[in-house]
Amino acid sequence: MNIVKTVDLSRTYNNGVEVKALSNVNFTMEKGDLVAIIGDSGSGKSTLLHLLAGVDNPTSGDIFIQDKNITKLNKDEMTVFRRRNIGVVYQFFNLIPNINIRKNILLPLLLDNKKVDEEYFKEILSLLGIEDKLDRYPKQLSGGEQQRVAIARSLVTRPAIILADEPTGNLDRRNSEEITGLFRLVNKRLNSTIMIITHDEKVANSCNKVYKMVDGRLNFLGDESYENH
Ligand code: ADP
Ligand code: ADP
Repeated sequence: MNIVKTVDLSRTYNNGVEVKALSNVNFTMEKGDLVAIIGDSGSGKSTLLHLLAGVDNPTSGDIFIQDKNITKLNKDEMTVFRRRNIGVVYQFFNLIPNINIRKNILLPLLLDNKKVDEEYFKEILSLLGIEDKLDRYPKQLSGGEQQRVAIARSLVTRPAIILADEPTGNLDRRNSEEITGLFRLVNKRLNSTIMIITHDEKVANSCNKVYKMVDGRLNFLGDESYENH
């Protein structure tokens, strides 16, 4: 089963001039895919991510996530669907400053009045190496540590898909490599389905499939052997 499937997905902006940010994108992801989307600034990468996350609506076309057509959901339904099924990791971490790390990670469950699976929670913490950070607050952590927390938060609901928007864009090289390795580890161990938007060749090379966005069109560049090209 496809986890993600877009059908002729298009998004046009019109603020006086018409911009075709996304043109007839037909894209699928299967369970366990680790996909990178590269492309120049302004090529449409964020637009695709925003549509998959349901924070923007397409001009035309459909988006299926685990066979559910999310373009048919209203705002409230989408909010609930997103919280339960989509994990998002941002460039600037987006942790809540005045609650501790434990609560930051568990927030998607707490907002949903869901019980915490302590065993799974521990597994995530151990995978990401943040077991000893739970009582701290975001500003007491380094950027790399904050991003690990954000990845933990994205995993806690066992989402269908994780969408990462330039997750290493605000990190130095060492932390960037660490976070890249952690996405691979999470993908392998938990069989998570992950899409990473990135400018960084190294991040793209660590993924199993690479696509390039060019003027709103998505081109497949290659699979595992991409790094040998
Ligand atoms: P990328 O993420 O690859 O940098 P974007 O998806 O942000 O690209 O943008 C794709 C195109 O759509 C660009 O030409 C951008 O200027 C335009 N665009 C994005 N968001 C908006 C918006 N809210 N209003 C108007 N144009 C937009
Ligand atoms: P990113 O780092 O995700 O590529 P951008 O700087 O492209 O971020 O865009 C940041 C925000 O500004 C997004 O919400 C996007 O939709 C909006 N945006 C991008 N380009 C334009 C534009 N030309 N006009 C209006 N809004 C835009």
